[in-house]
Amino acid sequence: MAVIIDGKKCAEEILDNLKDKISKLEKKPSLAVILANDNPSSKIYVDNKEKVSMELGIKSSVYRFDKSITQGELIKLIHELNADKNINGILVQLPLFEHLNSQEIIELINPKKDVDGFHPINVGRLNCGLEPYAVCCTPKGIIKLLKKYKINLVGKNVVVIGRSNIVGKPIATLLTNENATVTLAHSKTKKLKEITKNADVIVSATGHPKLIKADMVKKGAVVIDVGITKQINGKLAGDVDFEKVKNVASYITPVPKGVGPMTIACLMENTYELYLKQKA
Ligand code: NAP
Repeated sequence: MAVIIDGKKCAEEILDNLKDKISKLEKKPSLAVILANDNPSSKIYVDNKEKVSMELGIKSSVYRFDKSITQGELIKLIHELNADKNINGILVQLPLFEHLNSQEIIELINPKKDVDGFHPINVGRLNCGLEPYAVCCTPKGIIKLLKKYKINLVGKNVVVIGRSNIVGKPIATLLTNENATVTLAHSKTKKLKEITKNADVIVSATGHPKLIKADMVKKGAVVIDVGITKQINGKLAGDVDFEKVKNVASYITPVPKGVGPMTIACLMENTYELYLKQKA
């Protein structure tokens, strides 16, 4: 049976450590969060980010908008937040309302305040092997989990399934930077099972419940499940058939309490790190 990777515990350790460091600061870090969509999941994510920020002593300002918000108003707000010396991190909760252009908004954020690491400058720096101002939170959290459990990545065959800008592509880059040999699969990939069967580490980020079945996993492989899909019964499902795959894998993340808590912990860590860099 696989070791169940405890993302919740690992995230709590990061948050406790941050809380301690922040308590010693005279001026507190601050995070601005923009919510411009009426998706219930986004609202929950933003409420949660606000709650955790407050627990840590990070000043959180949430800007909530209804559908009447225009692109121009959002652009003006980003300019104001960029210019505001009291704001260290800016987060735009995606997706935005359909009539808004999210890429234009992300590109307007000062890369030094881009707490999600989505700005092309930060993505580019990551790809060039340079230090970005911030690394995307979910991929950063996955690397931390792998390191915490001392999983050796050097020369290992890693398959990342999913090629989004927020998870798949950046985690593939980070794993490459850790000297793994990375294959990036997606919905057009042929014979996925043949690829996953050969993998020492599988990272699945598709939002497709039970995509990864036990017969797709090599004995002793490490399985990281990023997927979160809300089922009809209200429970969350990952991409991995957890109950069966845990009998084949050596390490596995559960859903929930796996990668999810690490994402928010890394967001808080990024806010703190941006604060330090801006102060320096
Ligand atoms: P996304 O933008 O929808 O991307 C999904 C990716 O999966 C795409 O690249 C897609 O391929 C690929 N894909 C879909 N079905 C597939 C299949 N049957 N076989 C192979 N590849 C397939 O999603 P995302 O934003 O990256 O998020 C992915 C999942 O992670 C979601 O469940 C999301 O809720 C979850 N998530 C979790 C966290 C966390 O903190 N745990 C954070 C972010 C996201 P194409 O490119 O060819 O369409």
